[in-house]
Amino acid sequence: MNNRLYYQNVYLQTFEANIVKRGVEEDGTAYVVLDQTAFYPTGGGQPCDTGTIEGRRVTDVEEVDGEIRHRLDAPLAEHTQRVTGRIDWERRFDHMQQHTGQHILSATFIKLADAHTVAFHLGRDHVTIDTALNELTPELIEKAERQANQVVLENRQIDARFVTTEELEKLPLTKQPTVSENIRVVIIPDYDYNPCGGTHPKTTGEVGPIKIIGWERHRGNIRVQFLCGWRALADYTRKQQLLQDLTRMMTTSEAELADMMQRLLAEKEALKETLQQKESELMAYEAERYLKDPAELGSARVVQAAFEGRSMLELQQLARVLTSQDEQIVALLATTTDKLQLVFARGARVTVPMNQLLKETLPLIDGKGGGNPAMAQGGGAATMAADAVLDHARGLLEA
Ligand SMILES: [Zn+2]
Repeated sequence: MNNRLYYQNVYLQTFEANIVKRGVEEDGTAYVVLDQTAFYPTGGGQPCDTGTIEGRRVTDVEEVDGEIRHRLDAPLAEHTQRVTGRIDWERRFDHMQQHTGQHILSATFIKLADAHTVAFHLGRDHVTIDTALNELTPELIEKAERQANQVVLENRQIDARFVTTEELEKLPLTKQPTVSENIRVVIIPDYDYNPCGGTHPKTTGEVGPIKIIGWERHRGNIRVQFLCGWRALADYTRKQQLLQDLTRMMTTSEAELADMMQRLLAEKEALKETLQQKESELMAYEAERYLKDPAELGSARVVQAAFEGRSMLELQQLARVLTSQDEQIVALLATTTDKLQLVFARGARVTVPMNQLLKETLPLIDGKGGGNPAMAQGGGAATMAADAVLDHARGLLEA
């Protein structure tokens, strides 16, 4: 316990130590164990520190069988015995802010709603707690934020120390310790008494603003997403920029942005409706033109057409219009985009199954597709001209 320098001085960024063990993990990663360290190993929901030891990158720190392994990107020189370690301070301080903010927020939910925290996650982008709440109202969010930030602004001392069993019994613990000896309690006076081996600043003021940014139901609890300190400020900056971009784009003010968006969406819906109506009118004209002189083929009449860049959906619509207006029509349609797509459809009085016709045509373009006897569609590589493919299909019809 005494060799964890971050217990004695949480702000220690550079330290000296002796190597007590060198090893190699199964995956080939070199590691060292030191007689003392300021590196925090992964644990208690808090990610490990990174940094350097003698200039080698410390990529991961983990406690394995009571020893703290500092995993390195390359082994240290063989003669090295005494080393200098450096912590990536920005990362560590960020972890201290998020982790301690979590202490405060969790204690706040207990005080306001008797809701205990059942899980905590501190990731690179997201920080969450799962609280045993049934629901989280905007009122409770506001109250919790106010109270948590009040504790921050009062700049209370944070005391982290090892306690005896007798002492422990007298403390109003927020949660029960997970270990039975060497119990360390982190105390925010009159607020939070928390058995914890993590890293915390000396005062609550250093946590900075605590901001809830979202929540969702998760396995019978409420998962609350929040940010503390510099992360909260960075998030504010990002959102401010986003809002500025939007108001500039919409040439409106922040206050009127939501109304403006609503109006735009309503307009878009109306336009979409009009467009759909015009499109179907246009398609009816188009169909009429094709139906003027279809090629007679026995009892059927064939409309054959190849397009560039039209969508499969449009082709299907056109096929439907054609076959509904003339029951003797066979529509053989193709469109070339980055591939060649086919739609075959027949009127009610035609007996040739379109899925069969398509199946016999697709091998030409190494294609795939399906459908039913009335309509079938598929596509393949645009390796030959669409007209040639349709001619082939028509040849099959004649046969
Ligand atoms: Zn803690």
